[in-house]
This record gives sequence, structure tokens and C-alpha cells, in this order.
Amino acid sequence: MSIEFSSRMRDVAPYPQAATYAFGGDLVKLASNETPWPPHPDVLEAIKAHVGDLNRYPDPGGTALRKALAQRYDYAPERIALGNGSCDILLGVAQAMLEPGAEIVYAWPSFSMYPHLAAMTGARAVTVPLDDAGRHDLEAMLREITVATRICLICNPNNPTATALPLDQIADFVDQVPRHVLVVIDEAYVEFNLLQDPDDSLELLKKNTNVVLLRTFSKVYGLCGLRVGYALASDTFRDAVDRIRQPFSVNALALAAATEALRHQDEVARRVERIAIERVHVESELAERGLATTEGQANFSWVAVEDEAAVLAGLEERGVIVRGGAALGDPGHIRVTYGTRPENDAFLAAIDAVIQRA
Ligand code: PMP
Repeated sequence: MSIEFSSRMRDVAPYPQAATYAFGGDLVKLASNETPWPPHPDVLEAIKAHVGDLNRYPDPGGTALRKALAQRYDYAPERIALGNGSCDILLGVAQAMLEPGAEIVYAWPSFSMYPHLAAMTGARAVTVPLDDAGRHDLEAMLREITVATRICLICNPNNPTATALPLDQIADFVDQVPRHVLVVIDEAYVEFNLLQDPDDSLELLKKNTNVVLLRTFSKVYGLCGLRVGYALASDTFRDAVDRIRQPFSVNALALAAATEALRHQDEVARRVERIAIERVHVESELAERGLATTEGQANFSWVAVEDEAAVLAGLEERGVIVRGGAALGDPGHIRVTYGTRPENDAFLAAIDAVIQRA
């Protein structure tokens, strides 16, 4: 006799882990869309200041962080949900809204957590292929929305293809989506998207109560090791997500760090500028080598390669870890996160060695 799992577990795939964690020694870690810089010194101080209180539970409402976010965005704190990473909010909303018979629509390839949402709730996943340029095909997505659709996910910029749609196209799409569908716009990389200002998306919230903007401190703020994300949404959304999850889902150090990090918008601007410079550098160097990338607006490039497995192995041999497209839904690609300039140049040198060998 062995223990028995629920039948749903058959559909729940393990999260595709980056190879980074399997190796020791000095690595060039370009596999997980992290930023290469440590948190701001004041953020580290804020973390240290709370270490002595770890015998106490954190504030379950995350009051100070929600207040800081409310001020940053001029948005009501009751309409801001917090999570243990934005993944936690995605999983929470799936639990709150999906069930057998319900449908969730999203583009593919996109963020590797999305398939979990249907799998763990017994809902039906309706996936819509990206267009040839690696962008969401909003017209095709609209055609897939039915009376059974509860959630539609838009990943902008999209992981793993790095592409972004102009906000006016998303606004037109939202206008046409029936009001019974929650449109979750996953903006994990919004700060790096030079097609718009991050604040511009808030216009969508003013006009549509069925829209959620999902954001994170994992990327530009460099706090993925602490796990904290947030959603700008409605009070009913926040209430549902809060009720369905475990209490205290955001830990005390994460709350303190994120609250302090928000105070340093000058640092955010600096990081965005540095990433934009690295984007131009990496993409133009790849183009010189005849390697095509999509038109990226994130902190990573999606690169078409002939022999993905050989490229991954060749890079790994040289201590450079990136992600292969096969694990992310589209074989024949690699996804490379931008690191520091020396890290990016180490990646380019490793690519040269791999190409020469082929
Ligand atoms: N959305 C997208 C599109 C992502 O790429 C990621 C992280 N890779 C997340 C959400 C989740 O980020 P976190 O849980 O760290 O906030």
C-alpha cells in the first residue's frame, strides 16, 4: 500500500528549475530573470532592524507596505493584495476562482506557473499561441473567451519571449472582454518596458473593475530571495485572495525590505537604465553573430538557436547558466537574463566558443 494523492496531481507538473542550483563554484547566473545587483544598503539595514523580532508573527495585513504602495501609486490600500511572491497571488486567485467546468485563457509560451492554475483546480486551460514575433495574439485570445471563462492572463512583457504589447492594444482588448472575466495583467517586468511608464497601466484599473495588475519586488527591486509580490486590484479581489491563503503569507523581513525599497525610486530608475543599456549591448552583439532575438522589453533576451541542447551544454561547460526553450514551451531557443557587463560579456564569449566548435 502506498499513500494516495488526489487525481489532480497527475496534471501538476514540477516547476522547471534552472540548472543554477545543481552546480558549485563561480557561475554566471543568467537563468532566472533576476537582477545582478544586491539590494540597496538601506534595504539591508531595514532587514537587519527586524531580525531581532523574528519571534513574533509578521503583520498579517502588511499594513505598512500596503500604505507605502498606496502612496507610491495613489491607489486605495484596501485594493492592494500582497503575496509571498506574485506567484502566491496567482495561486490564490486560481484557488478562489477556478474549479472543474471553469476555464482560464492564456498565451503560450508564457510564464511556467500558468499551467499550474488549471491543473491544481481542475479547471480547463485554454492556451493561445503567440504570434510569429513572440507576442500575445489578443484577437485570438478574445475568440477563446466563453461564458465558462473566469480568468484571462496577459503577461506583459511576456516571459519567456520578452515581448511587450503597447498599452493601448491591451486597453482595447480589455474593453472587449466580457465583465465576468477577470483580466490579470502580469507585469513582473513592467519597470523594464520602455514602451510605457509603469504608472500608465493604472488607467486600466480606473475604467475596469475586472482588471488586476500583478507586480513583484523580485525583479527590479532585487528581492526575489525574500519573496514578495503585490496586486493592484479591487477590494473584493484582495479579500478573496487573503481568505483563501494561509495567514502571514508575507514574512516580516520581506515586508520591511519591500517597504524600504519603495522609498528608493531613484535606484529603480538607475537599474532600469543599466538594464536598457545591457539589452542594447547583448542584442546587438547577438545580431552580429547572426543570432536572432525577439524585440525585447524585459531584463532578458529570447534567442533562436539551431541546436538548443548543444548550446546549453557548451555554455554550462563554461560556467554560464541560461534557460533552454524546451523547458519553457518552445524548443530551439535560449532565454538569457542580463547580468552585469562582465557577466554578459562572459556569456557572449561562451557563445563564441560554442559557435566555433559547431
Ligand atoms: N510573473 C512572471 C511573468 C514571472 O516571470 C515571474 C517570475 N519568474 C513571476 C510572475 C513570479 O515572480 P515572484 O513570485 O518572484 O514575484
